[in-house]
Amino acid sequence: MQFDFRNDEESLEALCIGVYWYLYGTTAMDLNGDIHKLLANLAEYRRVFPEDKPFIDELRGKLLTKYLFKPYTKNNEKLTWENLDLLVNFLEATGDYIDQIPHFRNFNHNLEDCLELTKWFCQNSEKYLGEYTINLEKYIESNGPSHIMEEDVIFYHGHELEYHLNMLGAEIMNRIYREEYGSRTRKAILLPSCMNSNSKKCQAKEDMLGDVCTFCNPKCKVYQISKKYQNHEVYIISHESTAFRNAKKEDKDELGIIGITCVLNLISGGWKARNLSIPPQCVLLEHVACKNHWLDEDIYGEIDKDELELKL
Ligand code: SF4
Repeated sequence: MQFDFRNDEESLEALCIGVYWYLYGTTAMDLNGDIHKLLANLAEYRRVFPEDKPFIDELRGKLLTKYLFKPYTKNNEKLTWENLDLLVNFLEATGDYIDQIPHFRNFNHNLEDCLELTKWFCQNSEKYLGEYTINLEKYIESNGPSHIMEEDVIFYHGHELEYHLNMLGAEIMNRIYREEYGSRTRKAILLPSCMNSNSKKCQAKEDMLGDVCTFCNPKCKVYQISKKYQNHEVYIISHESTAFRNAKKEDKDELGIIGITCVLNLISGGWKARNLSIPPQCVLLEHVACKNHWLDEDIYGEIDKDELELKL
């Protein structure tokens, strides 16, 4: 199989488009234009006014469940440029793909290649990555109607293929941006808030780029990483959507980042950094840890320390 993509980033864009078309194309084509605008505006409002999150999330949960959450149906439609616009509208309405969308709006490669590449990926991803998602289907099934009417209904019910896409995407991004990351004069490690020892009592101080540990508990993983990598800036990021909101020009010019996150956020997080001109490297959390999406109670996030060392 031979494709003439300009570079690896374009091949990742093509694969993302193909996978999303495969999973969401049918729903995207049915999505009413006014509902798309309403949901996209609500997602944007939530980003700008996080203090209104509870109210907006309740409303978004109801609308997302009613209009976007549909059982998977085989998509037989041709992927045309008009249909790509509809797919992008769907992704925008979910609020989960904001940092990926610019890559799809600027995409201008042959769309047939997106589907061919996706066909290959569907045939092969299970073989190479399936062992990491072996319990996913059972987990989602055993939780029944969990997260219905909640704002993460689409994210929570993500298909196994999206997990595999994010794993491969992170690896591709790590290769693409490695050299530029290495050339940056400042390096930052971004840790998710599930990695601090007790998020309720955490005494981290708010900084421009994220919260910074004040070393209150030597058992805390953030404490340990902050102490060990003192040549690096270490920030706790409470939500990927607000990460680096206050980055200044010098941050964008000087920083390279290691982003640690759970699997479904890998591509979005990587492209968020890239869209800010900050070269990223991604490290996957060892397991999900938060009750926001996955568990009844928060547990502490873990990372593979060797993998982190390797990426630094
Ligand atoms: S050690 Fe740091 S990150 Fe951990 S709880 Fe204390 S202030 Fe928060």
